[in-house]
Amino acid sequence: MSEIITEGGAPADGGLPPLIDPFGRSISYLRVSVTDRCDFRCVYCMSEDMSFLPKAEILSLEELDRVCSTFVALGTRKLRLTGGEPLVRKNVMSLFRSLGRHLRSGALDELTLTTNGSQLTRFAEELRDAGVRRINVSLDTLDPAKFRAITRWGKLEPVVDGLAAAKAAGLAVKINCVALKGVNDDEFDRMVAWCGEHGFDLVFIEVMPMGDLGAESRLDQYLPLTRVRAQLEERWTLDETDYRTGGPARYARCRETGQRIGFITPLTHNFCESCNRVRLTCTGTLYMCLGQEDAADLRGPLRASEDEAALVSAIRDAVSRKPRGHDFVIDRRRHGPAVSRHMSVTGG
Ligand code: SAM
Ligand code: SF4
Repeated sequence: MSEIITEGGAPADGGLPPLIDPFGRSISYLRVSVTDRCDFRCVYCMSEDMSFLPKAEILSLEELDRVCSTFVALGTRKLRLTGGEPLVRKNVMSLFRSLGRHLRSGALDELTLTTNGSQLTRFAEELRDAGVRRINVSLDTLDPAKFRAITRWGKLEPVVDGLAAAKAAGLAVKINCVALKGVNDDEFDRMVAWCGEHGFDLVFIEVMPMGDLGAESRLDQYLPLTRVRAQLEERWTLDETDYRTGGPARYARCRETGQRIGFITPLTHNFCESCNRVRLTCTGTLYMCLGQEDAADLRGPLRASEDEAALVSAIRDAVSRKPRGHDFVIDRRRHGPAVSRHMSVTGG
């Protein structure tokens, strides 16, 4: 299938009843992993020798557009493209440009992405032109040697340059920083100060037990954010805010820098009661919960017909099975994966 997307395709506003799950939560946020591939191999995310999916299994960009647009017709207000590394997928900008039509029509509030930043110098302007206004960029350290060790072979400099390009293009940036015991726990103050200087919000994330990591152990990596926060409060004044993005992060405002600091604590605090999202993999599998195995195939109904009726029915059926929450635990007895897939499959 060609990778060129034309305007049109699935309806922008089908006037369909919205998606409500069995616990009364309205599903208005879709995260889409557009590729399982990545130019990095972060130690908490992937094993060193990952095998990636054959191309035939991956949804084309047109198919991704159809699924996303069907979700928009079902009331999705926010779309986040992620991966793997979304910006390494060939011609991914055509998908951003095409999905931008839902922003212009008012059917969608936000189109965004999570990226490792390595390709941002090339794409920041184009993202802005497509309608993207805010991006999440993963950055766990400002030390080049540590950066290489965490990503296994990534370089820090292009990421820092990419962040400068994003800022210059007028994109608001939120930095995602995974807290890693004994790795970056001496750098959190520096990260807060650096993000303050650049006007970036900063979100700390606890390691989640997803996918086999080979030799790495979750127990070795896991650092509870309660400890990170206590450490930060020795140097910074963190004022509570009621700012929420509908997601798992709790935000404080750092009085000294003026920036927000968020904490995503799947292990020390369960965030499922306000969950408004589902996740699509690049093969068209829909996961109703990041921390559970249950999934629904959307590729079959998508490819079976050009009409969206079967797809709509498969999506509704899947949402009717959305579980109450995840069961992530990391302790001495349980430090293997809670789910077998890596974060790069469902996109974080
Ligand atoms: N490649 C992009 C990036 O790194 O931002 C997007 C995909 S990545 C899977 C999305 C987010 O998940 C990143 O912020 C990454 O740090 C985080 N992540 C990956 N594996 C994780 C894990 N096991 N626990 C917690 N966060 C994880
Ligand atoms: Fe790649 Fe992102 Fe996973 Fe790192 S966290 S290996 S950058 S997908």
